[in-house]
Amino acid sequence: MPPKGSKKRAADTEAGAQSKSTKTDASTTAGPSTEREPIVEVAGSNDQAAEIDGPDDSGSDDADMTGEKIKNDPYTYIVNCPPRFEFEARYNKEHDDGGEDFDEEKASELWAEEHNGRKCACFNKERTDGWSMMRKAFARKMDAETIEIPHRDPDRFDMYVYNDFAGYGYQEVIENHMAEFNKVLNAKDGKTEELWTILESMGWWIVDEPNAPWHMIDDGERSWLTYSLLGFMLLTALNRMDTEGDLKTDSKYKDLSLVLALWAKAADDLGGDVVDPLASKKMDSTIGDYAGFNLLWFRYLLTLAKEANVPITGVTDVDDKIDGWNSQVEGKVTLPPKRVDRFDWKAKYQLYTKKYGKAGKIGGEAFQITKWTRQKRAKHAFDKKDPLTDDQVKALKDGMVLQMM
Ligand SMILES: [Zn+2]
Repeated sequence: MPPKGSKKRAADTEAGAQSKSTKTDASTTAGPSTEREPIVEVAGSNDQAAEIDGPDDSGSDDADMTGEKIKNDPYTYIVNCPPRFEFEARYNKEHDDGGEDFDEEKASELWAEEHNGRKCACFNKERTDGWSMMRKAFARKMDAETIEIPHRDPDRFDMYVYNDFAGYGYQEVIENHMAEFNKVLNAKDGKTEELWTILESMGWWIVDEPNAPWHMIDDGERSWLTYSLLGFMLLTALNRMDTEGDLKTDSKYKDLSLVLALWAKAADDLGGDVVDPLASKKMDSTIGDYAGFNLLWFRYLLTLAKEANVPITGVTDVDDKIDGWNSQVEGKVTLPPKRVDRFDWKAKYQLYTKKYGKAGKIGGEAFQITKWTRQKRAKHAFDKKDPLTDDQVKALKDGMVLQMM
């Protein structure tokens, strides 16, 4: 499957540069200097997410939020600038008139310029073009993008392991988030808000870069099962909201429509010509031939949102297509009857775990290069030396986190 939405970055940037990690003396760059040298910071503690100071907090009530509070508070909403893909979609819609002189890279450059120059909605409350998400979702997103994913990317360490390594590393991150979802879902005191923070953050980072290696892993069957399971994860959370009376127009989940639109974009990106492996029955072939419809969860999502009167809106690419999708699906999809596990998450998750998990568990840390021994890293490094410095190795041992922008 070709990597969709993987347009080359026009300018490398410090995406999410608003993160305020506690820099230590060990702060340094990883590996020998290269063209695209990563910026690596050793963040203050294992509670790295807690260090994230998100968008401009000055003067707000949560200025005194401590790490532990943030960890346990999936309720406060904060505003960020829209992700690069959304900024590009808006810009291109406005400026691309089909003329030959349209600069495809321009929007990406502008996004970086605004964000790195702190001119965007992350830092300026008067900007009205931002997106909101729960504070904890933002922390999850930052962890995924600056720690979990880059720590599994050999390029970032000047290493080579094997061709699909970064893709399978990304898969491991995805699985860790699904496992976390499953854990919260089944925990006695697992909060629906907590489930929501997982979906808010994932919806954002799975459609954003750097997801390209993930789309190219050589196990298509596993990819499809994953694409399908991810959507059923969303449906499962929505069903729980529904049973709690929160799947509605004026839901207490303020970003409900936006997150649904993000996941609709995910369906748009992930859909293909393969029949959903988690569809138990043959799917209605009279529904249009749009690729995303091959994911059963996407048909369900459109139908569920329609029934609940929740608009799927806020993502430019989706806003342009949603009416068309809805009209194709309308009246043709029957949702499973209402019950606790309405979308059979348990069975579906088990099926995946049985097939790809180890000892009943999915995900893990096998691909996390920073957790390897120095010898193992050195073996795969281009120059046969551990890309991490002595200080970095010591900092990691002391429980610090390498944050890679
Ligand atoms: Zn920003």
